[in-house]
Amino acid sequence: MFLIALSLCLGIVVSAGVGLEFRYHNSLEVEKYLRNVNNTFGFTHLHSIGKSVEGRDLWVLILGKNPTEHQIGIPEFKYVGNMHGNEVVGRVLLLQLIDYLTRGYLKDQLVTRLLNSTRVHILVSMNPDGFESSNRDCMYSQGRFNKNGVDLNRNFPDAFSKESGTREMEVRAIIDWLKTESFVLSANLHGGAVVASYPYDNSNKGAELKGGSSITPDNDVFVHLAKTYSYTHTLMHKGDQCYDSKDFTDGITNGYNWYPLPGGMQDYNYVWGQCLEITLELSCCKFPNESELPGFWDANRDALLAYMQQVHLGVKGQVLDADGKPVQNSLVEVEGRPNLCPFRTDSNGEYYRLLLPGNYTFKVTYPGHRVLMETLAVPYGPASFSALSHDFRLERDAATTPSPGNTHPPESCTSSQVWDFHTALKAILPTSILLS
Ligand SMILES: [Zn+2]
Repeated sequence: MFLIALSLCLGIVVSAGVGLEFRYHNSLEVEKYLRNVNNTFGFTHLHSIGKSVEGRDLWVLILGKNPTEHQIGIPEFKYVGNMHGNEVVGRVLLLQLIDYLTRGYLKDQLVTRLLNSTRVHILVSMNPDGFESSNRDCMYSQGRFNKNGVDLNRNFPDAFSKESGTREMEVRAIIDWLKTESFVLSANLHGGAVVASYPYDNSNKGAELKGGSSITPDNDVFVHLAKTYSYTHTLMHKGDQCYDSKDFTDGITNGYNWYPLPGGMQDYNYVWGQCLEITLELSCCKFPNESELPGFWDANRDALLAYMQQVHLGVKGQVLDADGKPVQNSLVEVEGRPNLCPFRTDSNGEYYRLLLPGNYTFKVTYPGHRVLMETLAVPYGPASFSALSHDFRLERDAATTPSPGNTHPPESCTSSQVWDFHTALKAILPTSILLS
């Protein structure tokens, strides 16, 4: 009763029928709304992954059939909003998405299939301090940074640079979050342009640099993911409509090709987190008038849902040792995709590899076992809301251990050593109103 009264007095409605109001909810209102959702719907779970510099919780709402813990075979998906505190459309859209998902579960077929097949994590605001300090301006950067004046999208460990600086609390929270869940797919919502940008954002001008772009071994998948968003979005695929930025073919761009940046979150997710993440730029104006918010939701709603469904690309399963037990830290490599840090099985012995339909040869490596090579025909998983399920069964190799160079990931791929190598990384690029 108290909660209902509180909700009414804050103008936040959690009910069937009426949707969440289109306006900018402040941090306190967001927290109350999320608590209310969590108390109302059994398929949600609310938790804080850490705090901002000013002590605000970084609330994550999880939605899914089993929201409190991972289930074998159910992929973990995430959306992160408002990393730059003055880029606020994503924050609004994620609240609207929560409203849409909670009202649609067991009523709407797409929503029901998504939440039955996926565990969805939504961090509405990664930078609540920045949001609270923002001025409502389209272009200027007041509110972009966290309380310490740091650009959080320049503060992550970087595979291509060794700059040092202090890791911010909000960034540490994300890094720790990635260790607690095996995220498969993610998007990071920004504003200041209209485009889907994909890794890499950085390069040290090695083999990854091709024609002005910094290309990952999974470039085909990233391009597909970015196009899935831009073509499901009502306008994005037509190219940038903003007056001050370039025209993006298909509404997508390689991050580095647009502008290089060190310490970005999407590269970190991909290289160290085994999580494919893209950056969605959703509005020319970073802080648009509230009257425009329903239009942004209409333009993005189907794209947000279609992107989530892509978590079912490729192949998933467990690696089992000679005794049939799932094993952690076995390498699951796909021929022709030399990932900087090879994908490894998690504590459940699980792996997820997002792949487009086709035939792929897998190489599975684990100490004391023969190297396993297997070729799989991969269908289009999103159509059935499931990647191809396939377990790899290893055979013991009494005589030898696997060949050198295959058994262990490069040292820099273990998170503890990432810390050692990059004890501190500061925002490097100068403040610019053009950055998105
Ligand atoms: Zn941004």
